[in-house]
Amino acid sequence: MILLFLGPPGSGKGTQAKRLAERLGFPHIALGDILREAIRLGTEVGLLAKGFVEAGKLVPDEITIRITRERIIRPDCERGFILDGFPRSLIQAQALDETLKGADYKVVYFEVPLQAVIERNAGRWSCPNCGAVYHVKFNPPKQAGLCDKCGEKLYQRKDDNEEVIKTRFVVYEEQTAPLIKYYEQKGKLLKLNASADISEVCSRLLKVLGI
Ligand code: ADP
Ligand code: ZN
Repeated sequence: MILLFLGPPGSGKGTQAKRLAERLGFPHIALGDILREAIRLGTEVGLLAKGFVEAGKLVPDEITIRITRERIIRPDCERGFILDGFPRSLIQAQALDETLKGADYKVVYFEVPLQAVIERNAGRWSCPNCGAVYHVKFNPPKQAGLCDKCGEKLYQRKDDNEEVIKTRFVVYEEQTAPLIKYYEQKGKLLKLNASADISEVCSRLLKVLGI
């Protein structure tokens, strides 16, 4: 099963993708995490991506398309995978369709009102080591500031400040939101009402997928 998660920043894609991937034994491929890791390590891709990611803009298509292609042809993706944060533009979506060569996939669209996503982004804390995400109010770690899973010190993403969150929304509206129609017309879109607590969204997601 190939799943693509689509929705505004902070709509809960990463949170749900992690849980579902664990449950299904699929890889969770989060492009944002891959890019942030590359930035942290100072790789060639990281150096190219840094300015874009930290400003809340899209990293150029040729880079994200290449990274995704290289990742989804790896053997651990044979049974299926969850793509989170890609595609984010029509060009990326078309490139993905070419790569998938007719393989079946579904797109889950996370619907959440704007006000809620802003609050979710602003309170997000992430683990630099295992990628787990927390929220000060909605999903706090057991020990303040530390990851439940691996004990690493949590951090706030550079793009999770108010200024950059605004840019990310504009970019989402302009470049990513048109994908809703694109996938709807292809009959691939599954709508998920993602404005509920994390475990409720998780049950809705399983239901929408018929699992
Ligand atoms: P995305 O991957 O779509 O950008 P995340 O999964 O990182 O979003 O979630 C953004 C923030 O909102 C995180 O701090 C997360 O803990 C929190 N969050 C996720 N889902 C919910 C939810 N259903 N209710 C409240 N907060 C949530
Ligand atoms: Zn961790």
